[in-house]
Amino acid sequence: DEADVELSSEQVDSEQTEDLEEDGLDELPPCNRRFGGNIHRSQTSVYLQEWNIPYEELQLEELVGKGRWGKVHRGRWHGEVAIRLVEVDGNNQEHLKLFKKEVMNYRQTRHDNVILFMGACMAPPHLAIITSFCRGMTLYTVVRERASLLDNNKTRQIAQDIVNGMSYLHAKGIIHKDLKSKNIFYDTNKVVITDFGLFGMSGVVQEGRRNSVLQIPRGWLFYLSSEIVRKMSPEEGENQLPFSKAADVYAFGTIWYELHTGLWPLEKLPVEAHLWLFGSGEGIRRELGRAHLGKEVTEILSACWSFHSADRATFTQLSDMLEKLPKLNRRLSHPGHFRKTQEP
Ligand code: ADP
Ligand code: MG
Repeated sequence: DEADVELSSEQVDSEQTEDLEEDGLDELPPCNRRFGGNIHRSQTSVYLQEWNIPYEELQLEELVGKGRWGKVHRGRWHGEVAIRLVEVDGNNQEHLKLFKKEVMNYRQTRHDNVILFMGACMAPPHLAIITSFCRGMTLYTVVRERASLLDNNKTRQIAQDIVNGMSYLHAKGIIHKDLKSKNIFYDTNKVVITDFGLFGMSGVVQEGRRNSVLQIPRGWLFYLSSEIVRKMSPEEGENQLPFSKAADVYAFGTIWYELHTGLWPLEKLPVEAHLWLFGSGEGIRRELGRAHLGKEVTEILSACWSFHSADRATFTQLSDMLEKLPKLNRRLSHPGHFRKTQEP
């Protein structure tokens, strides 16, 4: 009946913990796995089966890259796709559950600025997430070459698109937890946000990193809000860190900074100094003081980088702030600052 189908994300969340094991994906022959049909199964397991892609239907092509959650390949499944092989131990029922829970998050996302989720391989040992393949550059590459690629109008449009995608995810109750310029693609004027939710799996990916060394990949720190930085320690699992909507907004602040400077804030600092400066709020004060980005840009940056998470703007508010920026004349705008140039 209708009411059963219209499960909210919270309801799915609480239900799936009991039912994930019973999805029966293992017992079904590949051709039936996707639409496996026991009508008495719970709604959750029906959802899971609808999104299951049998591994043998995929054609794996070249390795695109490897990040902390495993390898990403280009591949084919009814056209070109990105295949993220997830290194979760499928024999561990708890870990498998967590993987499927993340997949459930992807399932309910439909927005122009959010990556298209196509399905997942959920039958061990082949666990993978299948999305559309992004042909463009990552925003990281774009901002590093910004002088040739970005003008002020493009910069604002990109920011507005990210804010739209993020306010959509937040409205769905999804916290990204890994918002960064490398997880945003920019192709023919379109922005696509990827890799939300993967962080929820960080406790279970196999990398033998259960040792007492705090692993801080290059480029991760710059997006972490002060309350997260202060919680970082070798004892604390990454999945225990206090991620929140406000922490996503902080990360967007860093992207806003990158869009205007082409750099990460104080990116040359050694990690220890960064941890101290950004955990205490001093780093933000320094950056805001010396970046000279102009009043409007700095206002938005401060609204994202507020020391206390409760003081940060929401993505809905950021959308309004971006909308209200003074209109620029395309001809006069030049890459770099929002300085108002004089007519020559
Ligand atoms: P990171 O985000 O830290 O770069 P990832 O594991 O997410 O690491 O990605 C590994 C590589 O795969 C990166 O080069 C990334 O740009 C690429 N990649 C990830 N998702 C896609 C996608 N949907 N389409 C094309 N390339 C992708
Ligand atoms: Mg990524």
